Amino acid sequence: MYIDERKIVKDRPSLSTLKSSKCAGDDAQHEDLDPVHIYRQQFQRAAAHIKGLKRGIIDFLTSPKRTVSVCFPVEMDDGSVRMFRGYRVLHSRLLGAGKGGIRYHPTVTRRETTALAALMTWKCALIDVPFGGAKGGVVCDTKTLSEAELRRITRRFITELGDNIGPHADIPAPDMYTNEQTMAWIYDTYHMLHPDRNNLPVVTGKPISIGGSLGRREATARGCLLATERFLSKKLVPHRDNLSGARVVIQGYGQVGAIAADLFRTAGATVVAVSDSQGGIYREAGLDFGKVAAYKKEHGTVVGLPDTRTVTNEELMEIECDVLVPAAISSQIRRDNAHRVKAKLVVEAANGPVTPDADAILARKGIVVIPDILANAGGVTVSYFEWVQNIDNEQWDVEHVNRKLLSKMYRAVDVVVDRWLTLKDGQCRRHVGSRWGGGGRTG
Ligand code: NAD
Repeated sequence: MYIDERKIVKDRPSLSTLKSSKCAGDDAQHEDLDPVHIYRQQFQRAAAHIKGLKRGIIDFLTSPKRTVSVCFPVEMDDGSVRMFRGYRVLHSRLLGAGKGGIRYHPTVTRRETTALAALMTWKCALIDVPFGGAKGGVVCDTKTLSEAELRRITRRFITELGDNIGPHADIPAPDMYTNEQTMAWIYDTYHMLHPDRNNLPVVTGKPISIGGSLGRREATARGCLLATERFLSKKLVPHRDNLSGARVVIQGYGQVGAIAADLFRTAGATVVAVSDSQGGIYREAGLDFGKVAAYKKEHGTVVGLPDTRTVTNEELMEIECDVLVPAAISSQIRRDNAHRVKAKLVVEAANGPVTPDADAILARKGIVVIPDILANAGGVTVSYFEWVQNIDNEQWDVEHVNRKLLSKMYRAVDVVVDRWLTLKDGQCRRHVGSRWGGGGRTG
């Protein structure tokens, strides 16, 4: 069955009817990209479908429970001392301990962290894991820092957070420019402060040797693949019900993007373009990921790989393809470029890569978007599995992890699509379902 998105948009209530639709009336140059405004707007649009939701409850669900902001000194390798700022926002603990990644990036702000923490609440609810939402970050540029400096930043940040994190309070995980090594430092620091007890569940995404779960490294990308395959199988995208021979474009070649490239290719797709912060590469016949990975390792970027055409990240978004997977940063498809997107399906592997105004434009063009809280939920799902294994002092085999992940992802896609199809009038359609699309624990 094909859903005519143009009809959906035509029937959609004007955003001006929604309280936080600040960007709706702005002109093209002034789209409101404030992350807090965006998540509240998305929530309002979804909440409009829940009958009898009281104003105060909406306020409660769109306000972070706790925001911790810390400033701390770190000794640099040259003996100088620099101040760093970090945040940890706990959005909600309604469904369990806070859960969410820690990001190291120069553009980290309190508002961005707040918005990302809220997304984690919706994501955990939708995928049905017993966590609330949280997020953290440190304002820093990892590309200019040594490993020793990153270790000292991490240890001091975690010490500053103190008991704001904990195995049953708030549980960090990797995000942009943090990785298994960072998680190992987090665990070790917390463990030093709380000796003589099982602290393994305080953080997920750890190395396997200290309680990490098999399958966690690939989980976000695998979840993304599973969501895409399941969604395509429902025949909601014209002339495309599986990945065999599909042309795929991926923005971001990090923990999520690089593994997604591999998994999509293995699933039968032709990945024609990928990018990183320095730009992208395109090859009509498909990229050879052995060569891409080796080149990236040697040169620090994918740009310049022989036998490929260099494209900018802007151009990458406009490549004609079946599936476009933004797997880097937020607000990559906006009001000013959405009309140039030529994909049939956009899969939000990153958090917030499509703005609300771009959503509406894509919908008018008949382009379906699988939203971040569904598309990248594989990461938190296997983080939950890791947490359970740590509490039980168990290690599951990777087949078991992947089977359970598949079942969670398929179920969440089914719930969202059912809800989408049920909302026949098409009102308030953000992506495939609303961000709070009626699945899992909150629906
Ligand atoms: P990462 O740091 O491993 O990789 C980020 C990639 O984005 C890198 O290739 C980097 O070069 C690229 N990038 C950075 N700035 C860019 C720019 N301006 N334009 C284009 N590319 C740019 O991070 P990751 O863990 O792969 O996370 C990517 C996205 O996925 C983030 O939005 C993150 O919040 C989201 N996410 C990650 C996980 C996870 O398990 N790691 C889980 C859920 C969601």
